[in-house]
Amino acid sequence: MEHLYAPWRETYFKNKPDGCVFCHISTSPEEDKKLGVLYRDAHCFVVMNRFPYTPGHIMVIPHQHTDRLEALSAEVWQHMAVRVQQGAALLKTVLHAPALNLGMNIGAEAGAGIAEHLHYHILPRWFRDTNFITTIGGARVYSNDFEALYEKLLEHAPEFFGATV
Ligand SMILES: [Zn+2]
Repeated sequence: MEHLYAPWRETYFKNKPDGCVFCHISTSPEEDKKLGVLYRDAHCFVVMNRFPYTPGHIMVIPHQHTDRLEALSAEVWQHMAVRVQQGAALLKTVLHAPALNLGMNIGAEAGAGIAEHLHYHILPRWFRDTNFITTIGGARVYSNDFEALYEKLLEHAPEFFGATV
């Protein structure tokens, strides 16, 4: 497997807030740029994954802190589903990703890194990228700079999600 080069990880761990990381992002809109948030509204937010399986990996996350999909109201879940569509379009258009992986890992046994708070993954994929299972099973090398990717996606995010409210 490839070597890991992800310099933001150590910083992230050193600065990890107490409690749920996703609740911290949810309640800290003033830190959106620092935390890699691309969009937020009353039900959910869209954020870059600082532990990306592939460069440009984003997540759609409800503000509601729950590990149970069935705990989300139909309104919130359907709202998130629309954001997933928009996020998929964002990655395909702006990053020219020809393919995507979409999905949720619900529960630690399913591979969820932050199991206590649901999050929906959108991963851009390119030809000769490793397959999804291989990717989640080990570390990957990324030369893309997180901040550069964030700025590029943030610039175009309103075209796909609308304005942050
Ligand atoms: Zn939470």
